[in-house]
Amino acid sequence: MNIYRRVKQMSKHLAKPEKTKKNPVIDFSAKEIHIPEKKQKKKTKSHVSKAEDTFQTAMLNKTLDRKFSLSELALAIAALVLLVVVNFLPTSGIVRLLSFLVPFLLAGYSYLFEAFQEAFMGIVLGRELIVTVASLMAFCAGSYNGGAAVMIFLKLSDMALAYAEMMQAEKVNALYSLRPEKANLVNENTVSVVKAETLKKDQVIELYAGDVVPTDGVVIDGTSVLDASTLVGGSLSFPVAAGSTAISGCVNVTAPIRVRVATEQKDAMYSAVLRAAENSWMHKSSQERLIQKVVSYLTPALVIAAFLLAIVPSISTGDWRTWVARAAVILTVSQLYSVVQSVKLVYDCAAVYASARGIVFKGHDVIEALSRAETLVFDKTGTVTEGKYQVKDVFPKGVSESQLLFLAGAAELSSNHPIARAIVAASGAYASDVKVLDVEETPGRGVCAFIDGRNVYVGNAAMMEEHGVEYDMPTVPGSAIHVAIDGRYIGHIIVDDALRDGAFDAIEELRMSGAKTSVLLTGDVHSSARKIASVLNFDLVKAELSPDEKCKAVEYLMSNRNVNTTLAFVGDGICDTDVLKCATVGIAMGCFDKPDAVEACDIAVLGDDIHQLPKAYQAADRAAGAAFLNTVVCSAVKLLIAIFGAAGVVGLAAAAFLQCAAVMFESINALRILNYEENRQKPRIKWRKGRLNRERSDESFI
Ligand code: ADP
Ligand code: MG
Repeated sequence: MNIYRRVKQMSKHLAKPEKTKKNPVIDFSAKEIHIPEKKQKKKTKSHVSKAEDTFQTAMLNKTLDRKFSLSELALAIAALVLLVVVNFLPTSGIVRLLSFLVPFLLAGYSYLFEAFQEAFMGIVLGRELIVTVASLMAFCAGSYNGGAAVMIFLKLSDMALAYAEMMQAEKVNALYSLRPEKANLVNENTVSVVKAETLKKDQVIELYAGDVVPTDGVVIDGTSVLDASTLVGGSLSFPVAAGSTAISGCVNVTAPIRVRVATEQKDAMYSAVLRAAENSWMHKSSQERLIQKVVSYLTPALVIAAFLLAIVPSISTGDWRTWVARAAVILTVSQLYSVVQSVKLVYDCAAVYASARGIVFKGHDVIEALSRAETLVFDKTGTVTEGKYQVKDVFPKGVSESQLLFLAGAAELSSNHPIARAIVAASGAYASDVKVLDVEETPGRGVCAFIDGRNVYVGNAAMMEEHGVEYDMPTVPGSAIHVAIDGRYIGHIIVDDALRDGAFDAIEELRMSGAKTSVLLTGDVHSSARKIASVLNFDLVKAELSPDEKCKAVEYLMSNRNVNTTLAFVGDGICDTDVLKCATVGIAMGCFDKPDAVEACDIAVLGDDIHQLPKAYQAADRAAGAAFLNTVVCSAVKLLIAIFGAAGVVGLAAAAFLQCAAVMFESINALRILNYEENRQKPRIKWRKGRLNRERSDESFI
């Protein structure tokens, strides 16, 4: 498979680099903020065109073609030793040529075969064909040493890359092995063991203590505790009973439960998460796209240059041996496959490293964008706060306290919002007690429901104003949830949420790692927002926002960010999936049980631990740094070899050795990402010029 021809073909189809958007003029003082139609369009992730996909498949096949094998490595090393030995043998003429052909064939027999195939298929820029031609040119020019060295070092560098790929694949396999292969299917009164992948929707399975949930479903019988530690990469367990969701990948800890299957195993949460990590290479970073583009022009240019170098000076000087040997050096330099592959490998390693820690990077482009994020925007509820509200106070008006709570609880029964869950829990309302019709939830506002022939509104001040209800100003701290029946105000409920454990440290760590500006956006009231923002030292804060206004604020901040930097929005996936799509990088936290959030975001942090955020940020930073280093090292080595090779300073053997050394360095660099151990390393502090501009934390943004 010729990747260069593919590269050339595909470069025509590659997505054009994102043009710098014109800064939209946004009037933040305006009450009504209209989002232009096109901005409301859901952000499409960097889709892979069909043509590009073919290319990627070719690349993947290429990778699979060249598996690491100890015998191949041993053969290459034996060939290298033999090369050194024959170098010192006092032979001459045809015997000397034949003695060099032995290590050449030992290391290069498979490349010769592939080169023959490429020549037969007319793939003139095939990697193996070019290297073979370079080798043969060296042999013709009398540089037997160089001719054999090219094949040997190519083999060694291929083995280095293949080894790194094998390590990465092993980690992916280790993650897959946590997915159970068998399940206990309940048929009438019998239980039979079946393959988990054959489970169908609505079938019932039984899980004993210690079993891993094979696919997503709903608990229908029994009570137990599910442990999601494997999935989220940290400790997380929660009780389940009839009606609770059972997420694939969780371990059933205490007692047997029965679960009704909701999705087939291939579509279950755990499979989706693994697939996202495994397929992240489909969404390439701009660096990879650029390299592929450069490669598509550079390879043919260098091949032409090599042939000109072999022909023109030979004709004028008559010393064809010298020039053919130099041209062979340039030919080997034209092989840029290792650059493409080593950068891809770095990002793949970062994606696998992260997924083992419950962080899903959905593309190489996402890792790159996160590494450049200087503005971090946080949603409040469920992100920097726990998202576990509690009812603190009840202020009824014209009804009793329990009546107010019951009506509010009944209206909130179907809502998934943390405030709704707190009110329902405090009210003692059950779905069986009351007939609730026409429930309508307005994100960032509240709910409206038809209960016993009356319209009940439960929500914030904005919701009351929207329905023309006059409400009381709350007199105690906390978030006030007002309640009205048929336009008549019947009081409010004060709810409060706690700051997440470690939120301060995590946000400080993000700042030290390079997140220059931190912003808090919330639909909650100013007082709560200000309190949280001052504790966590946010630079900017904006409260009482609807989800649309949050999108608008994110777009405003994106348009005001520094060139070459990006903006990341961190939400919990409840009411903010559109905002996740607006930001350059949308990060959903605590979403192991929220498939919608996983779908909408670019990075899914499955667990609830806010410390995962700096981990993700630093992993992205390390990956981008390693990818850059690999590109620079490889390009510098190739450039120097090209210059000094053309000048006759660097011979073919030295050129082959240096390129092999560069590939080995790149492979080790990628593996460092895969095997990074946080506890052993000191936190890296990234200083950036003109850090926080706290003056901007002004009221005008509020
Ligand atoms: P945040 O921006 O802090 O994550 P949300 O956007 O989820 O918060 O909600 C913003 C505000 O909207 C809440 O503080 C609350 O006042 C109101 N709200 C949203 N959903 C509901 C609901 N189901 N019941 C009552 N109030 C709600
Ligand atoms: Mg929220």
